Amino acid sequence: MSFLALERVEKTYPNGTRAVKGVDLAIEEGEFIVLLGPSGCGKTTTLRMIAGLELATGGSIRLAGREVTLAKPSERDVGFVFQFYALYPHLDVAANIGFPLEATGVGRAEREKLVREVAEELDLSHLLARRPRELSGGDQQRVALARAMVRKPAAWLMDEPLGTLDADRRLEMCEFVRARQLRARVTTVYVTHDQEEAMRLADRVVVMSDGLILQDAPPLDVYDEPASLFVARFVGSPGMNFVEGEVRERDGTVRFRPRGAELELAVPRGAKPGPATLGVRAEFVGVVRGDGRATLRGRVKVDEYLGSSRSLHVDTPLGRVVARGDADAPSAVGEEVGLELALDHVRLFDPASGRRLA
Ligand code: ATP
Repeated sequence: MSFLALERVEKTYPNGTRAVKGVDLAIEEGEFIVLLGPSGCGKTTTLRMIAGLELATGGSIRLAGREVTLAKPSERDVGFVFQFYALYPHLDVAANIGFPLEATGVGRAEREKLVREVAEELDLSHLLARRPRELSGGDQQRVALARAMVRKPAAWLMDEPLGTLDADRRLEMCEFVRARQLRARVTTVYVTHDQEEAMRLADRVVVMSDGLILQDAPPLDVYDEPASLFVARFVGSPGMNFVEGEVRERDGTVRFRPRGAELELAVPRGAKPGPATLGVRAEFVGVVRGDGRATLRGRVKVDEYLGSSRSLHVDTPLGRVVARGDADAPSAVGEEVGLELALDHVRLFDPASGRRLA
C-alpha cells in the first residue's frame, strides 16, 4: 500500500458540479508530486480532499497507513500552503517561522533549532530578527514558506504557493522548495497550472483535465512521451507541431501521408495503418540551411531570437512548422530552408480519441 493513496476519488459539489470524476493516485513516502492542468480541471479540489478541507463524495483516501477519507484536517497530520499568505506583523521572522511549532507544543530549544535549520535552507538566517514590514515581498513569501515547511508532517500540500510572484522569483523559490523537500523527505503534493514549475519540481507530474488524470509520469516522459494530444499541447513551450494525415502501408513500407500534401514522412517503428495525427516538438525539427538534403522544405516567416536558441516558424506544404534554430546563426526570415524531423521523437496520436498510438 502506498504512503498516500487515492482510490476512485470523486467530488460532486452541492450545486451538481462534478469537479473530480474518479482519481487514482499512488504516492510513495518522500515523493514530490505535481498536479498540473488548466484552470477548472479539478486539481485544487483533489488537493483539498487530501487535506480534508473538502470531503470526497466517492472513493477513499489513505495517508500514512490510515484511512482518512472523512477525517478532519487536524486529524490528518498535513501542512497546507496557500498562494496567499499573511505573516504576523508584530512578530519577528524567527517567531513567525516558529509559530506552528509553538502551537503544537514544541519546546523552546527544539523550536529554535528547527527554525535555524529551515532559515538556513531558505537563506533567511540574516533576516531572523526583522519584522515583516522590513522585508521585500519576495522575502516575505520565503518566510511564509519557511513557516509552512518548518514542521515535518506526513504530507505537505501546496496550492500554487508561488502564484503571486514574478517569473524570476518563482524559479528561485522553486529551488528553495525542492531543496527543503529533498532534505526533509516530506511527501509533497503541489498544485500548479505552470508547466515549467511542474517540470522543475516534480518526481512525477500528474496532468489533469476535466476532473480526470490524463497522465501520471516523470517530467521527461510527460514532455517526450505524452499520452494524449491534450498533454502534448499543454506541456512544452512552444507546443508540439501537429500534422493531420494517414499512416499507409505500400510495398511493405509504412509511411505517413499528410493530408493534402504530396509527400511522405517516415514513422516510428510499429506504426499501424490508419488515420493519425503526427506530432513533433520544435527542438526535434532540424533546420538545414542552403541546399542540404532535407525531408521537407519551406520558407521562414518568423525568426524569434530567444537567447539560447531561435524559434523559426516555417511555412511548408504541411502548414506552419516551428523549428528550433541555432542562436548564433544570422536571422533566417524570408529564407528557404530544409527541415528534418528526428524520427526518434516523432509521436503518433489517434485523431478521434486524442490518445497516443503505440
Ligand atoms: P483553478 O486553478 O482555477 O483553481 P482547478 O483545476 O484547481 O482550477 P478546481 O478549483 O478544483 O479546479 O475546480 C474544479 C471545478 O469545480 C470547477 O468547475 C470549479 O468551478 C468547480 N468548483 C470548485 N469549487 C467549487 C465549489 N465550492 N462549489 C461548486 N463548484 C466548485
